[in-house]
Amino acid sequence: MGCEDVVPLRERGQREVFCGLAPIVWLHRKIQDAFFLVVGSRTCAHLIQSAAGVMIFAEPRFATAIIEERDLAGRADANAELDRIVTRLLERRPDIRMLFLVGSCPSEVIKLDLDLAAERLMRSVNGRVRIVSFSGSGLETTFSQGEDACLAALVPHLPALPAGAERSLLVAGSLAEVVEGQLERLFSGLGIDRVRFFPPRSADDFPPVGPGTVVLLAHPFLANTARALEQRGATVLIAPFPFGAEGTTAWLQAAATAFEVPAERFAAVTGPAAARATTALARLRPELEGKSIFFFPDSQIEIPLARFLARELGMRLIEVGTPYLHRQHLAPELALLPAGTRLSEGQDLERQLDRCRADRPDLVVCGLGLANPFESEGIATKWSIELLFTPIQGYDQAGDLAELFARPLLRRSRLVELAPCN
Ligand code: SF4
Repeated sequence: MGCEDVVPLRERGQREVFCGLAPIVWLHRKIQDAFFLVVGSRTCAHLIQSAAGVMIFAEPRFATAIIEERDLAGRADANAELDRIVTRLLERRPDIRMLFLVGSCPSEVIKLDLDLAAERLMRSVNGRVRIVSFSGSGLETTFSQGEDACLAALVPHLPALPAGAERSLLVAGSLAEVVEGQLERLFSGLGIDRVRFFPPRSADDFPPVGPGTVVLLAHPFLANTARALEQRGATVLIAPFPFGAEGTTAWLQAAATAFEVPAERFAAVTGPAAARATTALARLRPELEGKSIFFFPDSQIEIPLARFLARELGMRLIEVGTPYLHRQHLAPELALLPAGTRLSEGQDLERQLDRCRADRPDLVVCGLGLANPFESEGIATKWSIELLFTPIQGYDQAGDLAELFARPLLRRSRLVELAPCN
């Protein structure tokens, strides 16, 4: 049963993934008084602007400090230039409470030490603004690692949970406000009242952490964040992730077990919401049942999504690719995957494309760069990054999540109907 012991196809070769700057798009909406300053090239600036859209009337909360060619050639003091830009930015924008210096491929190539720069700049503003650095570089990484790097960099800044404080739950991973509200109500119904979310909405609202902190990960790609929280004494729960009715129940159950919630209370609180989710999924099941799906490795949430689509919607998994397989955090998910599922870790793009074309799946989940070619070949696609932009966790989003996969299939079938007969 399951895929716990499956040895994935391990591939190393050309990759087709977004870089770690992409999460700035959702993190800047989440932490509402933070500013993200990418220290990068014009390419980085274009990526961020096109991914986030250009805000004309609002004060933007991200920007790029461009490293010019003379900096790359080592003919300018990039540190002095960075200090000048940050000082000017903080003078002009007193509303900024937290500043992220985000590393990129160019800043790594010229070995600009942004950790040191963050410490230096924080001293220069007398700690008035918290300045933290993390890497969003696309060298050997995939885009969801940007969020992991950002949160892991914040962990040392969290206050200590006072000794002897009552245990509290920390949900780690960026979630939409609507999802946080729903989860808060469920936890409260379970009697778990001391619940905090990380990252917080404000730099002034950092959750405390310590040996009394129990962590529930909202995403499977937070390995470094989890490790950093454990180093602060927290206990990280291992559970399936909150996708679909089954995943959400199992995720909540992990917290309920840790906080010794009686089984009857758990059933009474989660039962109605789980039933609503099951009904929403039943409505979409006819669109998806029996359809085959192929995941290219990109977001690192492929395995929980595959589990959800196979078990709750009856889809056939052709290949489930993931950039990295964190066996420890994904163990419960692997146990739930249908036995015999083809798993792949890493990527050798051409070989994977060959496999996919030979398998001819009904739906391909992939990055933007691969979607158009597949569409032109008559294969429906779903952009993997959209699954990170959209609220998809929890009971009330289960139907929306299924719909994200049903929609491209429906669109493809309409295109086939409209195609002229030869
Ligand atoms: Fe490109 Fe690297 Fe900048 Fe990402 S960080 S946009 S991969 S140069």
